[in-house]
Amino acid sequence: MPPISESRKRILVTGGAGFLGSHLIDRLLAQGHEVICVDNLFSSTKRNIDHLHANPRFEFMRHDVCFPLYVEVDEIYNLACPASPIHYQHDPIQTLKTSVHGAINMLGLAKRLKCKILQASTSEVYGDPTIHPQVEEYWGNVNPIGPRACYDEGKRAAETLFFDYHRQQGVPIKVMRIFNTYGPRMHRQDGRVVSNFIVQALLGEPITIYGDGSQTRSFCYVDDLLDGMMRLMASPAEVIGPINIGNTREFAILDLARLVIEITGSRSQIVSKPLPGDDPRQRQPDITKARETLGWEPKVPLREGLQKTIPYFRDILADEVLASKEQPAL
Ligand code: NAD
Ligand code: UDP
Ligand code: UDP
Repeated sequence: MPPISESRKRILVTGGAGFLGSHLIDRLLAQGHEVICVDNLFSSTKRNIDHLHANPRFEFMRHDVCFPLYVEVDEIYNLACPASPIHYQHDPIQTLKTSVHGAINMLGLAKRLKCKILQASTSEVYGDPTIHPQVEEYWGNVNPIGPRACYDEGKRAAETLFFDYHRQQGVPIKVMRIFNTYGPRMHRQDGRVVSNFIVQALLGEPITIYGDGSQTRSFCYVDDLLDGMMRLMASPAEVIGPINIGNTREFAILDLARLVIEITGSRSQIVSKPLPGDDPRQRQPDITKARETLGWEPKVPLREGLQKTIPYFRDILADEVLASKEQPAL
């Protein structure tokens, strides 16, 4: 099927109602494309895409990517998969099915349509890394039977499928390894560290540090991440990845907690909770490849990104208070 026009494409975004997917769709629509958003709403709500329904170039399909999908599109972004440990460990078998069966179905679709497909892979393919920072050539240190395995191994198997469909069937692929990303529209209760700390700080509740807070992560603001994702999709055919996209500035979790308290002006205390199993100690991307092949690097420092994210959670919490007041007394 030829594209609708050279500049206007019909694009499929799986997981499009999620945090990253909904921002991606905003950008694709703003560029004039048509978007089909496929999502089973497992780890998101329609709230993220409520503002899009009036747009005639937007279409929502409630569908689980574990099942075949027959649509006609020019490009596919495969983002469907719960991303936070709470969500992906809630139903680990479904998580693994989503990564593997979802990848097979979306690759089958891309093969039939001979269209480009981008996979939202993850820094979790490196597991608890033994080299630092992580380069794409590193094969990782993943426990195949631990609590995070359903996600980590699922994403690793999905990468294998992408590369095999590329080698065996000639499918044009783009594999992106996303490092911790944050911003407005993260699920308020998905348990990820940035959303947890902001919500706890705004509610004046204790900030829960798992372990002693010395473990590190490198946090990328959503706008930077999407720049990288869209550059990768637009890159020449020989650029297939895997390619790390993330912020290189590494923070201890304890320092993140202090920063959130400072910016929100919260009186929350910091409390310690047990460290979950297999929690990686350290994480920081080496983004040399992204710099050299995509001309990409992140621009938004953590403080600025948090300042853009906090008002979103203030609004969400204010809406919740309003909704609870509107409940009729029993
Ligand atoms: P999210 O949970 O907000 O979004 C994922 C979306 O996929 C949700 O809307 C969910 O309902 C949907 N989904 C889950 N299973 C599905 C299924 N079987 N069929 C159809 N839809 C399904 O998470 P996110 O942060 O937006 O992550 C998007 C993608 O990026 C995921 O694939 C995730 O693994 C990857 N990623 C994200 C991060 C991050 O820090 N945000 C880091 C690494 C990788
Ligand atoms: N598939 C899909 N949409 C399509 C084409 C294929 O969902 O437009 C699914 C189909 O269910 C199949 C999977 O993708 O099971 C893999 O497709 P492939 O052509 O690789 O495998 P085959 O159909 O030969 O088993
Ligand atoms: N974390 C924490 N308190 C929380 C939530 C998370 O200390 O309330 C820690 C978690 O143990 C991990 C880091 O913050 O070391 C990042 O956790 P997240 O779930 O956001 O991402 P991931 O572990 O998948 O990188």
